[in-house]
Amino acid sequence: MIYRSKHLNSCESKEYTKRTIIYNLYRGRLLAALLLVCEGILSVLRYFFNYKYYYSYEGQNYLNFYIRAYGLFALFCAIYLILLRNLKKFKHMPLEKLDKYDFLFTLFLTIVLIWGAMVSLTDQIKFTHLTSYFIYSTLCSVFFSLDSTHWLIPNFISLSFLFTMLPRFQGNINVLISHTLNLSFFTLIIYLTSQVVYKRYFGEYLSRLLLEKSNTQLRLEAVQKNIINKQLSELNEKLLKLSHIDELTNIPNRRGFWEHINDLLDMYEEGFTLTVLMCDIDYFKQYNDNYGHLQGDEVLKKITNEIYNCRLSEEDFVTRWGGEEILFTCCNQSPEKISFLANYIQNRVRALQIEHKYSPCEKIVTVSIGVHTMWVKNRGDIEECIQKSDEALYKAKKMGRNCCVYYEN
Ligand code: GH3
Ligand code: MG
Ligand code: MG
Repeated sequence: MIYRSKHLNSCESKEYTKRTIIYNLYRGRLLAALLLVCEGILSVLRYFFNYKYYYSYEGQNYLNFYIRAYGLFALFCAIYLILLRNLKKFKHMPLEKLDKYDFLFTLFLTIVLIWGAMVSLTDQIKFTHLTSYFIYSTLCSVFFSLDSTHWLIPNFISLSFLFTMLPRFQGNINVLISHTLNLSFFTLIIYLTSQVVYKRYFGEYLSRLLLEKSNTQLRLEAVQKNIINKQLSELNEKLLKLSHIDELTNIPNRRGFWEHINDLLDMYEEGFTLTVLMCDIDYFKQYNDNYGHLQGDEVLKKITNEIYNCRLSEEDFVTRWGGEEILFTCCNQSPEKISFLANYIQNRVRALQIEHKYSPCEKIVTVSIGVHTMWVKNRGDIEECIQKSDEALYKAKKMGRNCCVYYEN
């Protein structure tokens, strides 16, 4: 039997039913143990202290009947306890299977109430009260969380039993009428009480569910935000890298160069020796004009790549300065090393053997280099160093190209 609610969708309703069934089974186990012990103690006490008065009426002895009835009840409680000894497994049980245990629970409630009714019936012989039934009914209504259906089935069966049997045990018509009124009024009150208990239980479940939902939502949003932030920072990093790299040649552009220079200036606070080798392809305009601009692009890429691979230390840096001018910079290097580097660059470009039939120098693509070395401490010094290497390059061009010139005052 599903515990339905208009506040829950079908999936939540199933989950809620499972929870409620397990909750009631748990409590049922507690009640079974409690009744088994209490009723047992009460029976023993009655037997030893007052059994002749309690169990005999008009010469008849009801002890055997009582013992048999109690034995049956105790047996049922024990079976219930044995069947439900391992409640942990119920959490992972499908609802269809759990439904059988719900039936067992309803049967348990019915038998407890019938037991209460039986005790009340025997009480008619000597005491004319229904206290036992009232106690059992109250216990079953407030001890569990029962919706109307779950409450009605055991109460209806036990009340029918009680009303049917009552005239046999209670001969006094006035007492019977009084019992009928009391039972009816009591049943109404106890039903309302059980529904208040149930509504409170459901309210608690609903607020826990809402809390879990909003927690899950918050967690999901946090995860999504984290992913977006990560993607954004990755994108930013990519953008930053892209903005420092020249699109055609894939080596650093001027922005990348100044970033590198700033790092060097931070590292060498007192300044350092900077060497700029300004490389420029000879007669490149002629190359483009005769071989086509696209072919020129390919040559530019090859030469740039070759010069880039001439770096010998970590502080050597290659930049596409503009057009077909490539800046090779290094720090704190000896004149011998710089001279070696300049030759090395020119030789490697020559070794590429890129045909340039229209170059008056050689019939292959060559580069001219202007070099200047100076002590630099700030951006102004660096700009000056570049300016002077450019002047040296200008001289190299004037001297016929395909050569290397050092700046001189
Ligand atoms: P020289 O340097 O020997 O004096 O002669 P040059 O013909 O190389 O003259 P200059 O350096 O002044 O000319 C630069 C030429 O480089 C002009 C342009 O056609 C070519 N160039 C500049 N940037 C690119 C580029 O991105 N792709 C191609 N294909 N050509 C370029
Ligand atoms: Mg040129
Ligand atoms: Mg040029």
